Amino acid sequence: MSLIVQKFGGTSVADLERIQNVAGRIAATRGNWDRVIVVVSAMAGETDRYINLAHELSPDPAGRELDILLASGERITSSLLAISLSSRGVPAISLTGGQAGIRTEGTHTRARVRTIQPKRIHQELDGGKVVIAAGFQGVDQFNEEQTLGRGGSDLTAVALAAALEADLCEIYTDVDGVYTADPRIEPSARRLERISYDEMMELASLGAKVLQPRSVDLAAKYRLQLVVRSSFTEGEGTLITPDTGGIEAPAVNGVSCDKKQSKLTAVGVADRPGIAASLFGTLAEKSIIVDMIVQNVSDHGLTDISITVNRDTAEEAERVMCETHAGGDAGKITRDDAVAKVSVVGIGMKSQAGVASRTFAALARERINIMMISTSEISISVIVQEAQAEDAVRALHREFIA
Ligand code: ASP
Ligand code: MG
Repeated sequence: MSLIVQKFGGTSVADLERIQNVAGRIAATRGNWDRVIVVVSAMAGETDRYINLAHELSPDPAGRELDILLASGERITSSLLAISLSSRGVPAISLTGGQAGIRTEGTHTRARVRTIQPKRIHQELDGGKVVIAAGFQGVDQFNEEQTLGRGGSDLTAVALAAALEADLCEIYTDVDGVYTADPRIEPSARRLERISYDEMMELASLGAKVLQPRSVDLAAKYRLQLVVRSSFTEGEGTLITPDTGGIEAPAVNGVSCDKKQSKLTAVGVADRPGIAASLFGTLAEKSIIVDMIVQNVSDHGLTDISITVNRDTAEEAERVMCETHAGGDAGKITRDDAVAKVSVVGIGMKSQAGVASRTFAALARERINIMMISTSEISISVIVQEAQAEDAVRALHREFIA
């Protein structure tokens, strides 16, 4: 029996008219598939609104309470969509993450999916219903609500598709696919018909925002057919596949930009074994994801360690770093929130020389200063001043793509 998972993001369910539009799509999908599972996000802007409400009441609201609050956004859309489908004569049922069998573990507001117990979903599908799961949430071993981190509805969709061995997982959003760059920054950016998991993984984690990075990672692990397409138009979208896209892949397939970065530096750290281990150990304990790491050459037994983190976690990271080094290991901790990460990504760079030099030369021509550099097999990333990030994207797109 054929099974599809369709996920609709926040802009696709932003108001009642759009929810009805989504219901229409699902009704049509039902004509072509035996079983349909739908995952929804909260209405656009709602999650942010809840977070702001909580912070108006307290500078540091408890994670547990935030999770109860945040999980409600996705529940609202799932029930409204079920009501809309039923009123069209399409049998449907909404399920919370816990009811859908999603079991989580880890820290509140950024939990991981531990397992999926799909019994209830199977029951409802057997009964001929469209199952609408509230995205971005599950319950832990104590039945406590947990959310999966920002953008986590993608992860819900991919995790359900993997657990139920879906034939296809479609992610509906407000853009019609994955682009060579953000078209709002670079108007000549074009849609990619297909892209490899590896490149998508890099683009997603480097800030291309179309898909939550963890969801791409999971899709790759299960070699799931994943499609990103628009809920407002009828295009083919972008297929994310194991395929590498031909023998002569271009050096660069996409340029991405992440403006939500912060740079933190521990200045004057003692240069002896164990210092980095203790610093990163404490950051890890708090589930703070460290992106780039740069340590300077030691001078007079002292060195600087700079890291970048997502700006949402910068305050906590700063606090952790200050506490870790309160014992006098570091002179001081500095933090810069006005930075951005710009990256070029392409499988083709594995086999082509000179990509780094072209990257740096293109930035130099625009007088863009590079603060940090990091590379992987298929990407080169630089930290630049946030105010220059868009110029950097345009310069690199011009150099490699258009
Ligand atoms: N509503 C959540 C967020 O805004 C999850 C999601 O949309 O995927 O991050
Ligand atoms: Mg999203």
